Amino acid sequence: MNLLTLILATGALFAQTSLHERADVRQALEHIRDNDAVHFARQITIAEIAAPTFHEGERARFLEKEFRRLGLKNVEIDKQGNVLGWRPGQSPKALVIAAHLDISFAVGVNVKVRKDGNRYYGPGLSDDSRGLTALLAIVEALNHARIETRKTLLFVANVGEEGLGDLNGMKYLFQQGPHKDKLDSFISIDGTSPARITNGGTSVKRYRIAITGPGGHSYGNFGRPNAIHAAGRVVNRLSSLEVSRTPKTTFNVGKIEGGTAINAIAESCTMEIDLRSESPAELDRLELKLLAAVREGVAEENTFRAASGKALKVEPKLVGLRPGGETPADSPLVKAAEWASRITGHKPTRGFSSTDANLPISLKIPAVTLGGGGRADNHHSLDEWYEPVEAWKGPQTVLLTILAFDAGL
Ligand SMILES: [Zn+2]
Repeated sequence: MNLLTLILATGALFAQTSLHERADVRQALEHIRDNDAVHFARQITIAEIAAPTFHEGERARFLEKEFRRLGLKNVEIDKQGNVLGWRPGQSPKALVIAAHLDISFAVGVNVKVRKDGNRYYGPGLSDDSRGLTALLAIVEALNHARIETRKTLLFVANVGEEGLGDLNGMKYLFQQGPHKDKLDSFISIDGTSPARITNGGTSVKRYRIAITGPGGHSYGNFGRPNAIHAAGRVVNRLSSLEVSRTPKTTFNVGKIEGGTAINAIAESCTMEIDLRSESPAELDRLELKLLAAVREGVAEENTFRAASGKALKVEPKLVGLRPGGETPADSPLVKAAEWASRITGHKPTRGFSSTDANLPISLKIPAVTLGGGGRADNHHSLDEWYEPVEAWKGPQTVLLTILAFDAGL
């Protein structure tokens, strides 16, 4: 390090130390802490409005009202169902701060929150009602402390993060919607820990493999190819594949269904398969191996039963695509998040996950996902729980990240 960089680094460090000590920033941070209980009550209100993926409408209307109440500008629900509200600064391009509306549960799920000791149970109570709550808490705090940012901020409560939603809210916002060219940085609030900075987006591809064939009586037509047997041959090939450990690469046959009766040759079998990798290139290689396993497994069953004169057909269909990549560790947004996390008393760690940040990351737009605060576990299960332990530190950390990034630190 030469003298100039040393001076610059020290200068930046000094500026960073002073940012959170600025009177207005302190006021904003205190506002978040003082209103922790109010925020948690709102989190429960949000969680109790059911919002399964593709059915986010009612919760979106609640957030739309909240955005208006907080004085965000040009509040709208866009064509995809995302709720948008602006807090204009001087920059022509905006930093997006988002949390997802949808929950990974089927329509009809009971979303009533129940309490057991200090622990609250509810599907989606943490994921991502906490993120939505933090989003609102941040706008409130900025307003309360009358903080104006240089950067224009776009607050978004988005649809389609979970499962087969396939990031449709983000895809619309960044690739199709009317504001797509005005967005140059992105923070999503998802998960809880303010120590965790997700700067990597795990790439995901999902396949539905449909095998169909002649069927027939299990005894009378024995010798014909069986769709379930073929699926077994495919799974056998796939399950023993070696995949890269770093970058982490995984596969999973998560669902399989088919056949009609114990005494019928299965005429159909469908498998749903999830492939993930920290490296888009590794994922492409794994995809080729999956497709080869499918071809070979079905061909093997057909060859084995060739004497019957019947054959199975197979159709692999890509049903999910979440592109990914990585926001570099030295990106100003990642630096800002790490600084903020330290200020609120954490030891920040960077990592990969599959979140809304995947989409902007794949477009080379700096993006991270940060925690909303508190403790939680069992996401995506009916036993999902949340404990509001130092929950205010989530919105505080995100707020400081926004301000540090805005100050160009
Ligand atoms: Zn989530």
